[in-house]
Parts: sequence; structure tokens; C-alpha cells
Amino acid sequence: MLIAVWIVLILHNLIVQMFAVKHIPYSEFVKALVAGRIVEVAITQDRIQGKMKVIDNGQERETAFTTVRVDSDLSQLLERHNVTFKGVIESNFFRNLASWVFPVLLFVGIWYFLMRRFAAQQGSFLTLGRKKAKVYMEDEVGVTFDDAAGVDEAKEELVEVIEFLKSPEKFTRLGGKLPKGILLVGPPGTGKTLLARAVAGESGVPFFSMSGSEFVELFVGMGAARVRDLFAQAKTKAPCIIFVDELDALGKARGIGITGGHDEREQTLNQLLVEMDGFDPTIGVILMAATNRPEILDSALLRPGRFDRHILVDRPDKKGRAEILRVHAKGITMDKDADMDTIAGMTPGFVGADLANLVNEAALLAVRHNKNKVGMVEFQEAVERLIAGLEKKNRLINEREREIVAYHEVGHALVALSLPGTDPVRKISIVPRGVAALGYTLQVPTEDRFLMARSELLNKIAVALGGRAAEEIKFQDVSTGAHNDLSRATDIARSMVKEYGMSAELGHIYFEKDRQKRFPDMGLTSTKDYSEQTSQIIDREIKAILDSQYDVAREILTMRRTVLDKGAALVLKEENIEGDRLKSLLEADQKA
Ligand code: ADP
Ligand code: MG
Ligand code: ZN
Repeated sequence: MLIAVWIVLILHNLIVQMFAVKHIPYSEFVKALVAGRIVEVAITQDRIQGKMKVIDNGQERETAFTTVRVDSDLSQLLERHNVTFKGVIESNFFRNLASWVFPVLLFVGIWYFLMRRFAAQQGSFLTLGRKKAKVYMEDEVGVTFDDAAGVDEAKEELVEVIEFLKSPEKFTRLGGKLPKGILLVGPPGTGKTLLARAVAGESGVPFFSMSGSEFVELFVGMGAARVRDLFAQAKTKAPCIIFVDELDALGKARGIGITGGHDEREQTLNQLLVEMDGFDPTIGVILMAATNRPEILDSALLRPGRFDRHILVDRPDKKGRAEILRVHAKGITMDKDADMDTIAGMTPGFVGADLANLVNEAALLAVRHNKNKVGMVEFQEAVERLIAGLEKKNRLINEREREIVAYHEVGHALVALSLPGTDPVRKISIVPRGVAALGYTLQVPTEDRFLMARSELLNKIAVALGGRAAEEIKFQDVSTGAHNDLSRATDIARSMVKEYGMSAELGHIYFEKDRQKRFPDMGLTSTKDYSEQTSQIIDREIKAILDSQYDVAREILTMRRTVLDKGAALVLKEENIEGDRLKSLLEADQKA
């Protein structure tokens, strides 16, 4: 730095010399002035510059001069005594130097300091964006499947991935193929991140993780560079896992909305797609991602060969919650009266993160109560506090709603169990699932069906309406919870009338679906190819089917009212029951 300053100063002097401005004493200037040799002057505060005539080798020519101004009275005196005098400017060279060298030095120092810190986080300045993908080796991950409880179904699906990562050659030798991308889908706090880490921990491979939001906060072009780098690094460490947390932050559908053009995010997303297509899964790199909003993801991400395997990480049921509580209670001294099953019963709707929080809160309360063990009192207080908070955030449903959902779901299941030719009921649950559904009844077909009889379709409609019928029987009121069922029932009925020719009044006829739907931008021209009168008959027929099937459902449920009540009580207590348990209740009732 100092050397540079010197060089600048030397250059400056050289330039001044080149232009050959003559420095003359003030007295000489005065003499020249008196002699009439000064041509022109410019006077500044402490200098006089100008041109003067000089005799050089007998020839007269003009030359530039400069002199330092001197107090005029003094100069007259000096002149009278014929003294050669001149002005001298105190040299403030070093002061000048200091006045700007020190700020520069300070600036350089701060810059250096910041860069060092930045580099410590980021690698070095020049490889910015590379080191952000930290390498977690197994001992750093330190998470196993035992740490994630109550998510058995997701774990089962991940076992295969672990097997593959442990010995990829075994799989590839047999020509087996694994999905490139696994997407963990589920509500926040259910343990998606935890599970991804557990997969790395269980298989003992390096774990590269990055959060979707990290990709997009950076400068333009950086996100894409990071993705490239992440994959490049991972390939050298295979077998390993690349985990993109909060994929939705990065993978939102491209170009939606007017302001939707977030170029940086799009670039990054495109780079991710390119990398995914370009890598060969047989080398043993598994790409995992997590999201709680799969519905907003760009469809390109979900295409085959990309994130084509989806694993649901659901909210835990009562049994699952007890298991999660036990995992988190491990490191804490519990009183004998603190029973995890009871606590699990008090916390419907809680996810893993809430339960971890609950245990922590209870432990803190015990400390505040000056106890050396965490007991039921603390847990009760902690539950109350957390429930208040979660309700405010709208994440819990209340008791009354749970009861409605329980009757609704048992209604579906009972109708399904009572009608022939319906798919067997596997599971009845009031653990909220996904975004909209508050509960669900899982019916799994025993075989693939390509043809359906009229009676089977009618039964399906009755099952779909069973939920609402049960609500009406129990509460003499219906809720909005059934709108999905209604749309499904209506769709089936409409297809029966318009496509399958199953209406007695209209007969065997096929009405083409409204074209408007297929070509949404062709304008609002009416494309119905049937008359207004026919259209009314169609509507009437659809309504007739729905009404009669609603009656069927209501009749069944009225007849099995005791089973409905018992089943609902059971579901309320356990949140999740096997279809078979309701079936045996029903069979007992049928015998009686
Ligand atoms: P997500 O990624 O689904 O939002 P996380 O994996 O970040 O949830 O979970 C946050 C924390 O909550 C975890 O670190 C863990 O302490 C706790 N947790 C969540 N789910 C579970 C679970 N199934 N079993 C045990 N602990 C859990
Ligand atoms: Mg997470
Ligand atoms: Zn329903």
C-alpha cells in the first residue's frame, strides 16, 4: 500500500518537471515585474503563477513560473535592502499523507477482517458459494431411526433407501433401479428433516443438506452456482445423500402471477432440474427433499426421474404421540406418575415438534417448581399453555369438531361395510391429514376394476354421502366438512346420467361433456349439444340419484345407530382404528 503511495508521488513530481514550471523566489518575481518582463499572472491564496519573458542564449522566450506569495509590506522592506527573498510553504507532505493513508489503512483492515470472517463461513472469497453445502459425516449426523417415532409408515418406505446406500453395488448388479428423488411430504414439525438425517445416520453416508430458502437469498446467479457445486461435491462422496429442505421456497411453480418472475429462483430451480436429469443414480447419490406445500411445487419437479417417490410424513396418532413423548423424555428425570399414554391422550393434533416442545416446557416448569422430577402436574400445565398457543395459530381443532369428524368418518365406514360390492374399509382416522381433510376413511380396493355395475356406482355414492348422513342423525345438523364428499358423489351421479347411459328416463345415451371445459380460452359460447329441456331432465335425474342414495345411507345408519355411537366413541378415544374393529362391532350388532 505504502509503495503505491510513493509511486504516485514520484510520478507527480516527474510530470511537474516535464512541464518545466520554474520555481522562482519572490524577489526575482518582483524584479521581473519592475523590469516589465511579466506577461500574465494568476494569484491564489499563497501562490502566484504566470508567464514571464526570459532571455535565453540571446533569444527572448516565454516561460511559466510559479512563486510563493509573501506579505507585501515586508517585501517592500526587503526589496529596499536588496535582499533576495522568497516565500516557503511549510511542508505538510506527511500531514497530507497521514490524512488519507490512515483511512485507507483502516478501510483495508476492516475489509480484510470481514473477508476473513466471511471466508470462515463460506470457504474463501473466491470460492464463494461452494462451502455452504457442509459435509455432515455420520458421527456428526448422529440421528437414527429411533429418534423419529410415530412415523412407522414413512420409515418402512425409507428402509429400502438405506439398504441401497449401504451397498449400492448389490442393487445395481441385479439391475435394480432406485428412485433418484424422494420427496418427504407432511405438515410442519412432523419430523421430515429429522427423518432425512436419520436415513443418513442409519446408512452411515455423508449428508449434504441445504435449505431451499438459502438458495434464493443470495446474489443473482449464486443459487444456480451453488446447486452445481453441491452436486459436484456430492458426486465425489458417493454414496451419499443430498437433502434439499423446504423445497417449496425454491421450487414454486414458475411464472405464476404478475409479479411472479423471481429470476434468481427460476434460475436456481432450472439448474436443479438440469442436475437431477444429469446424474446417474447408480453411483449411489440419493436426492431427498422435504416440503409441507407439495401443491405449489413446479410440476417439472415431480415428473418421473425427478422427485417421483413421495413419502407422506403424517401427523402422529395417539399411539405415535406416546412414542414421540418417550423419545424426548429419555434425557429427563420423570416422576412415576407421568404417564406418556395419558399425555398423548391430552394432545390431539400435536406434531412431533410440539411434543418435543411440551417435554421441554414441562421440564422448565419442574425447575420453577423446585422439583427434581418432572411430574404429571407440570405436563398438565405445559399442555394447557401449548394448546392455547396452538389454537391461536389455528392448528388444533376443538372437541366439538373432533366429535363431528368422528361421526362423519364412522358414517362413511358403516355404510361401506353394510353395502355389498364396496371396497373394504382399512382404516378410520380423525388425525387431520393434508391441507383440507380433517379425517379420513381409507378404503382400499382388493383388485383393479375396469368395469363398474350400476349398483356399485350407486353404492359408492351412498358411501360418499354417509358422512353427512351420520352428522345429521347425531347432531340434527350438517357441517361444511362434507363438501369434498358431495362433489365426488355428484361427479359419479353426473357421469352415470350423461356418460354411462344409466338413467331410466333418458335411456342409453351419451352426452358429450361441455366443450367449454376442454378449451377454456375459446370464449363463452354455449357448446351444449342438447336442448334446454334435456338439460333440465339431466339435472333432475342427477338429483334423484343423489337423494335416493342419501336415503339409503341414512337408513343404514339409523338402523345401526348403536354401532355408529360405539364406533365414534372408539375413534374419538384412539383417533385411528382398523376397519376390522368396526366390522366386528357391526357383526355383533347384526347378530343381536
Ligand atoms: P419438519 O422438518 O417436518 O418441519 P423437523 O424434523 O424439523 O420437522 O422436527 C423438528 C423437531 O421436532 C425435531 O428436531 C424433533 O426434536 C421433533 N420431532 C418432530 N417429529 C418427530 C418425531 N416423529 N419423533 C421425534 N421427534 C420429532
Ligand atoms: Mg424441516
Ligand atoms: Zn367425508
